Amino acid sequence: MHEFSIAANIVRKLTEVAREHDRKLLGATVAVGPMSTVVPELLSEAWKYVIKNTELEGAVLHIDRVPIRARCRECDAVTEGYDPFVKCQACGSMNLQIESGFELKIISAELADDTENAHPAR
Ligand SMILES: [Zn+2]
Repeated sequence: MHEFSIAANIVRKLTEVAREHDRKLLGATVAVGPMSTVVPELLSEAWKYVIKNTELEGAVLHIDRVPIRARCRECDAVTEGYDPFVKCQACGSMNLQIESGFELKIISAELADDTENAHPAR
């Protein structure tokens, strides 16, 4: 279950972003491809656990599942799908060049408005 270390990494990066802008992080979107070996459900669970008692507590993680895109080496057809064991839709070959689907990246971060008590003590 490596989702915990992945979640910890994401939290570290987002904490930097929030500090840079001096805002509270409300949520973030992460793109996860089927070839990334990340189980989205486990990442969600790990996220909630990792942000507990941190400045990111309460922030929502949205997971955007992106499909695999594979080009067939036999017939050049392009197949998209969410199954890591992808087969060519046109000819059934498994001799495919995976063009995308390995994604594991932060695509957006949602920060609180400046006016919204980022510094309630001031
Ligand atoms: Zn094919």
